[in-house]
Amino acid sequence: MLVANRGEIALRIIRTARASGLRTVAVYSEADAAMPHAAAADEARPIGPAEALHSYLNGPAIIEAALASGADAIHPGYGFLSESAQFAAAVTKAGLTFVGPPPEVLSAAGDKVGARRLAQRVGVPVVPGTETADLATARSFAALNGYPIMIKAAAGGGGRGIRVVSDESELGAALDAAAREAQAAFKDGRLFLEKYLPAPRHVEVQVLGDARGRVITLGERECSMQRRHQKIIEESPSPALTPALRARMVEAAAALASAVGYRNAGTVEFLVDGEGFYFLEINARLQVEHPITELRFDCDLVAMQLGLAAGESLSELPPPRGHAIECRIYAEDASKDFRPAAGPVLHLQLPGGPGIRVDTFLTPGIEIGTHYDGLLAKLIAWGSDREQARRRALGALDEFMLTGVLHTASFLRAVVASEPFARGQFSTRFVSEFLPQWRPAEESIKAAALLAARVAHGRPVSASAADRGAADRRPRSPWEALGAFRLGNRS
Ligand code: ADP
Ligand code: ADP
Ligand code: MG
Repeated sequence: MLVANRGEIALRIIRTARASGLRTVAVYSEADAAMPHAAAADEARPIGPAEALHSYLNGPAIIEAALASGADAIHPGYGFLSESAQFAAAVTKAGLTFVGPPPEVLSAAGDKVGARRLAQRVGVPVVPGTETADLATARSFAALNGYPIMIKAAAGGGGRGIRVVSDESELGAALDAAAREAQAAFKDGRLFLEKYLPAPRHVEVQVLGDARGRVITLGERECSMQRRHQKIIEESPSPALTPALRARMVEAAAALASAVGYRNAGTVEFLVDGEGFYFLEINARLQVEHPITELRFDCDLVAMQLGLAAGESLSELPPPRGHAIECRIYAEDASKDFRPAAGPVLHLQLPGGPGIRVDTFLTPGIEIGTHYDGLLAKLIAWGSDREQARRRALGALDEFMLTGVLHTASFLRAVVASEPFARGQFSTRFVSEFLPQWRPAEESIKAAALLAARVAHGRPVSASAADRGAADRRPRSPWEALGAFRLGNRS
């Protein structure tokens, strides 16, 4: 099987493929020749230059690599070509198995306007909205529903093409900008409008469908912790749902999946507002946050995808156990509005211990660039209840150490430690409201101290060694060499 992706998701898929007895083929761009995913597969093939458009989005080059290596299946991962009906059709036409839904399902799910129409047809509520978005339509929609309104790309994903407009004077410029962004990102500039809900929660349901038309659901994921309309912390189950609301949402997700003839793994996303919920979109692929579902249901969703692609039938899984939380660490500067960051991986320490899973491609020596999505690592914590999972997540974020490239672990730690998160009471607004109160200084100093210590020592220094440094009077102590300072108590 060829894995048409990079980063943590390529490694994660290669691992399951290998455990399932498959030989694996990786593909890599010129920027990624030294990346771990290329080394992890049985075979690796170059597919083009760094720009994703000419490599990871280059369908013909990927299919050619698959045929040349004798692969008989392609797993697209998430992002890139994973939801491209055209790519899935080309893969099938080349005599290969596409590990995902068939092209018809990808087309139906990928068009948000069409998916909204389908939801309405099967009786699933949608946010009040339109099917097009020219200036006149937008003006009359706003006159009817009031501002703010949300502009969205019909082909959108990953938070791109979205604009919130709170005043008529911004409308024209926002429509132009959104259309340009959508055209550039998705080669499809079609827009539509939705009423903007001020403080909803994002809750989604995992679905799986087999070739015989059976659909099962694997619980929900709470994904309200977002920046730029993209998730950074997810958990399962959602602390916001009553059993009655959960049952209604699961039923709605299953009805929609059945109505599109869903096959393989996918996600139905909703906004929750009080006791009401609204359909958002169908993501016809494996989701970044799938590990929290795996930990609760003790399953391997990639293995299930492989089974479904091979024509196997679904059966119900045993009920879920406990609670799981995922923290996504990005190469970004949280203190500068999550601006993308780049740099080498110098010192790295990954967490471990009971209930902790780390999905990452980080390894010392590699260079993090800005060509691709900045996701560096996912720290996933399982606990028998929410508080145990939360404490384990805090411990994992404390243990996580990475110098050389700015990242968001200390911001995530502050969020997970915050009172609203501990209580489970937050909406999609939380991150933007919390960010201005956050003080990154102490964490940055700690990271700088570790880097300085590493330079002085000429080798990696662990966080605990750095903390002991102040009391350490040996001549080689980095604290001696640098005019030591220490965070926390003096000893
Ligand atoms: P999830 O909903 O699984 O958490 P995200 O929205 O965070 O997914 O996106 C996961 C990855 O896929 C990111 O790299 C994002 O930029 C990319 N992505 C999502 N949707 C699309 C799309 N329609 N086209 C291209 N890339 C996408
Ligand atoms: P994408 O395809 O980029 O993931 P979504 O439609 O799933 O786009 O929306 C992404 C995020 O934007 C949601 O998780 C939510 O936080 C926010 N959002 C989307 N629609 C609305 C809305 N009508 N009102 C308020 N927030 C919204
Ligand atoms: Mg979405």
